[in-house]
Amino acid sequence: MPRWPTSLRSRLTLWYTILLGVPLIVFAVASYLVFARTLQQRTDRFIGDALTAFARELTAERRAALTLAEAMRSTVEEVRFREIQIAILDQEGRTIAMTAPPRGDRSGTRPPYRVLTQSLTVDGERFSLTGTYSLSDMEAMLARIREMFLVAIPLLVLSSAVGGSFLAKRSLAPVASMGEQAAKITASNLDQRLPVGGGDELVGLAGVVNDLLDRLERSFAQQRRFVADASHELRTPAAILRTEADITLSREHRDEAEYRASVTTMQDAARRLTRIVDDLFLLARADSGNPVEQREALYLEDLVHDAVRAMSSVAERREVRFELSGLVEAPFHGDPDLLGRLFLNLLDNAIKFSPRGGTVAVAMTRRDGHCEIAVADAGPGIPPDARERVFERFFRVDATRSRAENSATSGAGLGLAIARRIAEMHAGRLELAESRPGRTEFRLTLPVD
Ligand code: ATP
Ligand code: MG
Repeated sequence: MPRWPTSLRSRLTLWYTILLGVPLIVFAVASYLVFARTLQQRTDRFIGDALTAFARELTAERRAALTLAEAMRSTVEEVRFREIQIAILDQEGRTIAMTAPPRGDRSGTRPPYRVLTQSLTVDGERFSLTGTYSLSDMEAMLARIREMFLVAIPLLVLSSAVGGSFLAKRSLAPVASMGEQAAKITASNLDQRLPVGGGDELVGLAGVVNDLLDRLERSFAQQRRFVADASHELRTPAAILRTEADITLSREHRDEAEYRASVTTMQDAARRLTRIVDDLFLLARADSGNPVEQREALYLEDLVHDAVRAMSSVAERREVRFELSGLVEAPFHGDPDLLGRLFLNLLDNAIKFSPRGGTVAVAMTRRDGHCEIAVADAGPGIPPDARERVFERFFRVDATRSRAENSATSGAGLGLAIARRIAEMHAGRLELAESRPGRTEFRLTLPVD
């Protein structure tokens, strides 16, 4: 059984040919049949008319002639049709008289005939008249039409197939070139785009694919920058670790204080390394779209309390005071570790950028289905052009300030990026509500029931 072609071009060609060929064939066959039938009806009418005329003539001759036989003879001789032979038969079917055979009918083989019979009563006797008409002319004409159709229809179908194939090739050419171009695009030449053209639908398709490439290119660039930034951040503590070990081991017999100092430096570097790696791991988990979250029922005010307590010794050392207000009961469903991390990052920044003796205000408000938690400090503020960028990964206004001692975070510039991701993972928002010299406020909004 012939299989439906898999190539789109062959399918289009086939459809085109079928849609043109089938109506053509149906039309040809139908008009041929109608034509043949009309010809036959005309022939029958013609024979009928001839027989009626003959009968009328015979009746007229009978009045003039002495006998019926004489009347028949003279009628047969006088009445002559070019294409019809008329015979008079008696009741037993024997031929009594017959006109001369039509001229031109000299073919040796017996051509097809059309024979019609009419009854006739003369002098009270019944006869039958038969008219015999040769169909050879009609047959020849129909045969010619059939031949013409047999040649013309395949030719037309063939030309429609060729035309269809050409059209299909032409309209599919842009798709082929789009495919070719798309096959050439890899991670290293993501800036290339598909050719746009070839009709509205294809322009639309190329546009959609090009938009997709835009997004891919952006996210690739982001990813590359992220990897570059991450390795840059990891390099410093790794280098400190190595050089510190090298230096310490380069001389034998150091006293304990020296070793202690050196190991402490290495401990700091190792701690920083661990924090950066932990941060990166957390972000990678969030980016994978499938963060391993431990959702459970909790109270947000408890988490705020815990974070403040955890940061209180750091705050004390920097002579920063916490001021808590409006801690209301706020039941929530979420990951306590991640949310704790969010508060810790906000508090860490607030303490880090607070002036000595400053106050960090933590305020909680509940209003129509939302819980807002604001963390404000009295620090220098964030310059206007950096206000959105502080949420970007590895962005720091001033890298040296960022790495405060006693900080709970790595100082790599990941704190706010992580905090915002955690808020989003809990269907919430983290925004910089206000920032000017003397007051910077970050506001977290979470949906509570
Ligand atoms: P990390 O949090 O990874 O230890 P970081 O604190 O520098 O490092 P983010 O918490 O993401 O990184 O903050 C990014 C930058 O935004 C900071 O480097 C700082 O320049 C600015 N910033 C954040 N919070 C404050 C604030 N409360 N006052 C002034 N500047 C701030
Ligand atoms: Mg921070």
